[in-house]
Amino acid sequence: MTEPPIDDRRLEQLVDLIVQLAAGNLGARLEASPARDSVDAVITGINLLADELDTIYRTLEERVAERTAELDQAKRDLERLALYDALTGLANRTLLGDRMRLAIVWAERGARPPSALLLDLDEFKTINDGLGHGTGDLILVEVARRLTHVVRDTDTVARLGGDEFAILLPDVSEDEALRIAERALAELSKPYVVGDRTVWSGASIGVCFGLRGQSADLLLRDADTAMYAAKASGKGTVEVFRPEMHHTARARLQIASELGAAIDDNQLRLDYQPIIDLQAGEIVGVEALVRWQHPTRGRLMPADFIAVAEDSGHIIELGHWVLDTVIERLGRSPRVASDPRFKAYVNLLPVEVRWSGLVDLIADRLHKHKVPAGRLVLEISETGLMTGDVGGLESLIALRQLGVGTAIDDFGTGYSSISYLRRLPVDMVKVDQSLIADITTDEAQVRFVGAILHLIEAAGLDAVVEGIESVDQMDRLVALGCRYGQGYHLGRPAAWKNAILPARSPRTARP
Ligand code: C2E
Ligand code: MG
Ligand code: MG
Repeated sequence: MTEPPIDDRRLEQLVDLIVQLAAGNLGARLEASPARDSVDAVITGINLLADELDTIYRTLEERVAERTAELDQAKRDLERLALYDALTGLANRTLLGDRMRLAIVWAERGARPPSALLLDLDEFKTINDGLGHGTGDLILVEVARRLTHVVRDTDTVARLGGDEFAILLPDVSEDEALRIAERALAELSKPYVVGDRTVWSGASIGVCFGLRGQSADLLLRDADTAMYAAKASGKGTVEVFRPEMHHTARARLQIASELGAAIDDNQLRLDYQPIIDLQAGEIVGVEALVRWQHPTRGRLMPADFIAVAEDSGHIIELGHWVLDTVIERLGRSPRVASDPRFKAYVNLLPVEVRWSGLVDLIADRLHKHKVPAGRLVLEISETGLMTGDVGGLESLIALRQLGVGTAIDDFGTGYSSISYLRRLPVDMVKVDQSLIADITTDEAQVRFVGAILHLIEAAGLDAVVEGIESVDQMDRLVALGCRYGQGYHLGRPAAWKNAILPARSPRTARP
């Protein structure tokens, strides 16, 4: 069989097809002729190859598209990581900084300068330590949600780390900024429900109204200073930055840095203030009050350094020193040996009660100095007990089992109910000075204090009224049946040997 002559036109079409395919037109095809000869075989082969190529090419294109999308996503993820907080989805410090600089540029072009809020949760550490980090995380997420709801669309809520948040308010009036701060405070003061638990953690908020030309760093630093002032002024408040706050902040830093050495170098002192049985006119104990004999600044009072000691963590060491000194003093005092009623009262902050070594430390020192446990009473403020700041009540219960007394200090400044008092592991209530300040002029106040004293008695607890400054106040209290008192009129805080002098009659005592 001989092949029929090759048709030039079909060869030409075939060449053309190859050229098109080579040029990247993978859709090009040539139809085979009815002849089904060897040219048609080549055409069919090339069509098949073209199909194959086309498929490979499409798959490749799809893969490239997929990889590109993945790369884009990774880039966005990286951006998120770099600019947003992973837990809450809020802006992080970097993005906040960018937005601040932007808000400052707007202000240069005529908008009002931005304001900054700095927020720190007051009880977060207690919750986190007590209920676990999972719970802590849930609360942080909820805080983020609440804050996002109180701001305007143009504002930026950021998490700076831990339980610290910031809000940038671009182009804002001072009134508006304050209103947002107050709303944030109100939102954060609401309870958090986590599983079957309800917990509270208020916040302290510092506000800095930006000035024209103020840098982002300074704006944030000043809001931070104001936040510390809010913490120092009793937490749960909003404070607006004032320049003099820097002095206070610097002084606090200075004090914190010197406190450790002060304890080691024996610069702390104790004064003791007598607690008097008003009916019998006898001293029944003394409250130990710490002072710092500072080498250059003179005598510093607790208000100057206790809060700093708490923030800086020195309070545990300071508390050790106080307990050590008081128990040692009790152990070698003939007065204590001869008077079985005589007790020493020591103040503890919630964080000291939470410290896990407290019970062992006290048991050890009592044993070492041969002091019966009943001679020591620990005072914890009402607010500390109410907010659950002391952690569990286990250590108080353990101390009472040891025989150590416990007292609620500054009663009347918090919100405890008498029924709550009865459930607390305490023996004694120290009624705050503020309750009796007007007792000689205000009859309603007299009735109020009388009712409180009755309720304390009905709860089976002893009452000591603090801050008695005059004979008139004392007379009023005695008439109300008040048994124990403390105050400048009865004896000022003094060195041990002066504080425990046999009681003068409170009636004739002079401030
Ligand atoms: P506090 O426990 O309520 O102690 C009573 C405070 O009132 C003392 O102030 C005392 O000097 C003062 N005071 C007593 N009588 C009167 C009075 O008639 N009128 C007036 N206006 N004040 C009177 P101080 O010594 O400055 O102590 C302040 C607070 O510092 C104490 O309040 C206590 O909470 C805390 N503190 C003192 N020593 C320690 C300590 O060793 N550890 C801890 N954690 N806190 C302490
Ligand atoms: Mg006290
Ligand atoms: Mg007190």
